[in-house]
Amino acid sequence: QAKQAQTQVAVYDPAQDINSLERLETIQRLRKTIQEGRFLIQYQPILNIAERYINKWEALVRWEHPTRGLLRPAEFVPLAEESGLIGELDLAVLKQAVQDQKRLGGELTINFSAVTLAHPNWVREVVRALVDEALQPSLLWLEITESALLPERQKWLGGLVALRGLGVRVALDDFGMGYSSLAHLKQVPVDLIKIDKSFVAEIGLSQTSEDILRAMLQLASAFGLKTLAEGVENRTQLEWLARHGCHYAQGYYIGLPVAVEQAVEAAFTKAY
Ligand code: C2E
Ligand code: CA
Ligand code: CA
Ligand code: CA
Repeated sequence: QAKQAQTQVAVYDPAQDINSLERLETIQRLRKTIQEGRFLIQYQPILNIAERYINKWEALVRWEHPTRGLLRPAEFVPLAEESGLIGELDLAVLKQAVQDQKRLGGELTINFSAVTLAHPNWVREVVRALVDEALQPSLLWLEITESALLPERQKWLGGLVALRGLGVRVALDDFGMGYSSLAHLKQVPVDLIKIDKSFVAEIGLSQTSEDILRAMLQLASAFGLKTLAEGVENRTQLEWLARHGCHYAQGYYIGLPVAVEQAVEAAFTKAY
């Protein structure tokens, strides 16, 4: 009896209030950064393996926080998703990247959160960005993750199909990281799968992982899909992927994510 009473007493914990204050402050800061267009984008080159040239760039967002330095998406994208800011952020990144494409040349690939796909105007905003910057739709790729495909597909599938009808292409990010990957390939319009870096890291180290990778590449080709391996960090991995017919490679071995100014220089000074 006494014990039960004890657990029901709410102890005031000042640390909790301070935490939620900090959280609110961070959300306010992030909102302002998005509204003022002060977030940064780095571009990572993607290699067309067979043709040995860079023809694609992935836009990766960063936030220069006033006190915490340059933040990676892992440190603020979850907060942006929970606070409803991610739709604005993803669309703002898209607009900036479509402008930067003029200097980068080639194709552009953008990450879209599941939450962004639920944003009421997202399809219209994508089309507007393409029209405003006169970018050919077939130069734009949208990356969505497998987990994004699970909830409320009917809300955004039509929009995705419409964009794809215009020529925009769709990549399934982090492929192989769970969920029923195979089922998704049949149910959503996808042009390319991005094989998660955890599989690439095992090339040359684990026979089982190489077998899985080979199976993924075969599966993709059976579905008529292009394949991209992410997290390529050395020559051994790149050569293995080339031998097994993977179409694209992305990773530190090909090039680091860098600001638009450095991106163009960096891409063409290295031979593959
Ligand atoms: P992701 O889409 O899987 O992006 C690849 C991540 O792997 C990037 O991390 C990239 O910097 C990192 N990476 C690239 N090459 C290598 C490599 O060779 N080895 C290793 N170990 N890592 C490599 P980053 O930039 O921290 O981004 C993390 C995640 O944040 C991304 O994962 C993506 O899901 C998300 N993200 C990035 N930008 C955006 C955005 O604008 N909107 C949304 N919604 N999400 C974004
Ligand atoms: Ca991605
Ligand atoms: Ca990925
Ligand atoms: Ca990943």
